[in-house]
Amino acid sequence: MEKIFGRPVVTQEDMKRRIEELGRQIASDYAGKDLILVGILKGAFAFYADLARAIRAPLLVDFLIVTSYGSKAKTSGKVKMVTDLTEDIKGRDVLLVEDIVDSGLTVQYLVKALSKRKPRSIKVCALLSKPKRRRIAVKVDYVGFEISNKYVVGYGLDYQQQYRNLPYLAVLDQVDEEGHKT
Ligand code: 5GP
Repeated sequence: MEKIFGRPVVTQEDMKRRIEELGRQIASDYAGKDLILVGILKGAFAFYADLARAIRAPLLVDFLIVTSYGSKAKTSGKVKMVTDLTEDIKGRDVLLVEDIVDSGLTVQYLVKALSKRKPRSIKVCALLSKPKRRRIAVKVDYVGFEISNKYVVGYGLDYQQQYRNLPYLAVLDQVDEEGHKT
């Protein structure tokens, strides 16, 4: 499986180091707060598991499963919540954990939808960000790595539901930045 990929976008060593840093930062920022870590599935599953273990502080875990309408790769901006949280977030400090922020539409939708439930605070942590592709200026409070516009797979991220189990992030050859085959 790994033969078809080029150079990793982020090596496993760099990933591990950065996630430890994020974990320390988040543990310190949320000291004394009521942190609930909300993973946005499916893409965030690998990052989430590593990040949660790097935050050495009390927290609750919960998950949302979302899909975007139309082509999976190209965000239409219409996000559908397929599976909701199991916890009540009212009065709690929510940290959304995303795989990647691209146009910003998914984050905007989720922050707006969850804010209606009156959490004490709501912030966003994304493993990856593509700032040059932003269509909406969303605030991403914690970013693992800023990357170029290339379409990446692995470490939870997919191409047509495949490659999520690749242990590192790689650029998928013959796929454009929208996730379409070239
Ligand atoms: P946004 O709503 O910010 O445009 O897009 C966020 C979602 O688009 C991500 O959660 C992810 O599912 C998908 N996405 C954006 N860029 C990439 C990419 O380079 N690779 C993969 N696999 N998915 C991406």
